[in-house]
Amino acid sequence: MAAKNFDMIVIGAGPGGYVAAIRGAQLGLNVAVIERENLGGICLNWGCIPTKALLRSSEVFHLMHRAKEFGLSAEGIGYDLDAVVKRSRGVSKQMEGGVKHLLKKNKVTVIMGEATIPAKGKVTVKTDKGTEELTGKNIVLATGARARNLPGLEADGDRVWSYRHALVPPHQPKKLLVIGSGAIGIEFASFYNTLGADTTVVEVMDRVLPVEDADISAFAKKQFVKQGMKILEKSVVKQLDRSKAKVVAHIETGGKVEKQEFDTVISAVGIVGNVEGLGLEALGVKIDRTHVVTDEFCRTGIDGLYAIGDIAGAPWLAHKASHEGVMVADLIGGKHAHPVKPESIAGCTYCHPQVASVGYTEAKAKELGYTVKVGKFPFIGNGKAVALGEPEGMIKTVFDAKTGELLGAHMVGAEVTELIQGYVIGRQLETTEEDLMNTVFPHPTLSEMMHESVLDAYDRVIHM
Ligand SMILES: Cc1cc2nc3c(=O)[nH]c(=O)nc-3n(C[C@H](O)[C@H](O)[C@H](O)COP(=O)(O)OP(=O)(O)OC[C@H]3O[C@@H](n4cnc5c(N)ncnc54)[C@H](O)[C@@H]3O)c2cc1C
Repeated sequence: MAAKNFDMIVIGAGPGGYVAAIRGAQLGLNVAVIERENLGGICLNWGCIPTKALLRSSEVFHLMHRAKEFGLSAEGIGYDLDAVVKRSRGVSKQMEGGVKHLLKKNKVTVIMGEATIPAKGKVTVKTDKGTEELTGKNIVLATGARARNLPGLEADGDRVWSYRHALVPPHQPKKLLVIGSGAIGIEFASFYNTLGADTTVVEVMDRVLPVEDADISAFAKKQFVKQGMKILEKSVVKQLDRSKAKVVAHIETGGKVEKQEFDTVISAVGIVGNVEGLGLEALGVKIDRTHVVTDEFCRTGIDGLYAIGDIAGAPWLAHKASHEGVMVADLIGGKHAHPVKPESIAGCTYCHPQVASVGYTEAKAKELGYTVKVGKFPFIGNGKAVALGEPEGMIKTVFDAKTGELLGAHMVGAEVTELIQGYVIGRQLETTEEDLMNTVFPHPTLSEMMHESVLDAYDRVIHM
């Protein structure tokens, strides 16, 4: 390794860290990134990307069963779970290689090993070959997060899985319990249910996908139930009795505990930040539960020490991590930096049907004191959705009745994870209902429903 003194040392090469490193290098900084496992972090290796690869297989499988509807024939439809998983791992590997290439192209020094911060401005890295001591004018913590383990519900990799096990399953679930219906839980429920597992989802809150708008949760739930999933809301898994071939779950609903047998359990009860073992306490870094406390510019309060991405708290999303990475590199590089606005970060869930949203739910907007105008438009009223054979879905928009500001947009249905960005741009540009209504949407597209939902909020809807 050439230099051991850097302008910027990034710990963790997930979508927060590697993006920060590339942006720093673009600005002419001498940058090192340290990674203990895989370039690309959880997102590319154990999160966003491999799950989407699995879900693509289950989506194609589902469509193959619908071949007749489209005037096609498909016989002997089946799957090979090992091959499905192999494809997903291959996609991750390809992405990891891409990150390696980008870091090299940008002349970022990559050190594979475990980093600690023994003192301000210093980083020690334990590598296969020994220990490296580095100094950095700026250090960016981008160490991410891992699955939360609740007492008694801990993943064991055998019958009880975390997301890591669920991505490389040691066996095929036949009777599956998924604990938690956030994005991670419901995506795995969707995948395994489509492949034929008898799937039950237990959610402690009053509805599935509890961060979403209540109308969207209700719509999605109806679809999940139609697909054969059992959904238990306001329910808690109190205990798991594990034996060689099965797990007996004690599930409490309305004060009554029922025992149910499963062959596999996926625990998806949240994540915790990787704050341990870095030396943060000694540096005086403030930690709230499991995340590093920062200001809006990701500054920790310790000179030259920043925290970005999952370790810096919610929303736990790759694009939030990357955006913070760019912002911090810009700050360090002396550029003008804009803080990330959490309410303008879209959340996407790639279950079937897909769910996507940005901004406030109707309930949240009302709670914040807004008088709202709400528009809704169903997929069944859209020519493209019907032509695609995807008539199940809806788009809901929430406006400030006084100013016409788009407060929130909420979607469920085919390809909504691609559509949501239209509203994100709208919010970024502080668009009003007027701009959206005057925008011409191409026909036939699913995006026309985004227009119609806005028109509906102002009693001008055409196709409903
Ligand atoms: C199953 C699943 C599906 C997901 N799907 C989506 C999705 O569809 N869309 C989305 O936006 N988000 C999704 N996420 C969340 C997303 O993966 C995270 O928000 C994102 O990876 C956070 O990026 P990060 O850079 O903060 O951390 P990470 O990606 O977690 O990267 C941190 C890196 O730091 C390394 N590290 C930790 N400690 C050290 C150390 N001491 N020394 C050296 N290296 C260290 C780790 O090995 C890791 O590679 C998903 C997550 C999971 C688990």
